[in-house]
Amino acid sequence: ITTKLASLPPSGTFFSLEFFPPKTQQGFANLHARLSRMAQALRPLWVNVTWGAGGSTSAKSLALAELTQRSMGLTTCLHLTCTNMSRKLVDEALEQAKVLGVRNILALRGDAPRSDEYREVKDEFEDDDDSNRDFTWAVDLVRYIRAQYGDYFCIGVAAYPEGHSDQSHPEHQSLEHDMPYLVEKTLAGADFIMTQLFYDLEAYERFEKALREHESGAFKTIPIIPGLMPVQSYQILRRTTKLSHAALPAEVLRKFDNVKNDDEAVKAVGIDLLAEMIERLKSIKGPGPRGFNFYTLNLEKVVTTILERTKLIPSMDESAIAEEESDGFVVVD
Ligand code: FAD
Repeated sequence: ITTKLASLPPSGTFFSLEFFPPKTQQGFANLHARLSRMAQALRPLWVNVTWGAGGSTSAKSLALAELTQRSMGLTTCLHLTCTNMSRKLVDEALEQAKVLGVRNILALRGDAPRSDEYREVKDEFEDDDDSNRDFTWAVDLVRYIRAQYGDYFCIGVAAYPEGHSDQSHPEHQSLEHDMPYLVEKTLAGADFIMTQLFYDLEAYERFEKALREHESGAFKTIPIIPGLMPVQSYQILRRTTKLSHAALPAEVLRKFDNVKNDDEAVKAVGIDLLAEMIERLKSIKGPGPRGFNFYTLNLEKVVTTILERTKLIPSMDESAIAEEESDGFVVVD
């Protein structure tokens, strides 16, 4: 990812697309077909593959990373969590990523997994009593990857424009609380920062400014990539914002409330909103190209419309040049 970013002009734009591993074989086949269409039509700079908390999707995440990186030749960033995971599972995931040619890891702490999934994983490592001893926070995983693999992996870390919050620490919902730990995580060896989804643009603008101007200097040049979730339905919007503690500003909520029983109208309002957000985010001056990460929920249409509307899809020429400069060969259709 860092190599690819370095090949873009500082005033350029880019985007990545996030996918999660489907549960069934049929789901995998459907996603494969969709990914092929999206890769060809949209040309993301890379794709993200999520990791189930506690390693609950480890085999499926690695299978999806194999498909994207090895079979499809898409630069892949594998998410990896570290709490509620045995060290053995972390080691296996990193080794397997290396074997697959994956060079990018989003190093995460993770949350407590759903108990049924967790039990399945625990059963596999019954004799392992060191679970959770090595890793408490994401920074532990960043340090571990650097210690074990040097610079082999490009490492990303997560950040929360409106502050991190989870069930165990609901009171910690402030950027000020996270800041020292984000500094620590970044200085431990992160190459880029990806954010939680948000719809409160002003909160995001405050967040990025606070990072860029932070006295530690830790965030002066690091790519900060805002996370955007295209709106697929009113219910999904309400659920995902609740789960991620992302605020829905009153005027944004009003627009959706006005059309909440009409799915197509909700999508259209969401497309307008995301397009406006992207245009405003593009105008924030940063040290390098301006990127966006889309939480696709494995869906194609809405994100495609947003990318077309905001002219984020690179021209063939640009993507061929980026490929050439990062990989040493040109991809010509
Ligand atoms: P950390 O950086 O460890 O921070 C977690 C909290 O602990 C923060 O409140 C921080 O301020 C605090 N903290 C950190 N260090 C310390 C310390 N030393 N002392 C006290 N407090 C500390 N989850 C998944 O399960 N799978 C995924 O694929 C996934 N992908 C994600 C992608 C993105 C872009 C984002 C933003 C999140 C993703 N998550 C995923 C969710 C993530 O795992 C959770 O939000 C988790 O609760 C925190 O992870 P973290 O890496 O930010 O943790």
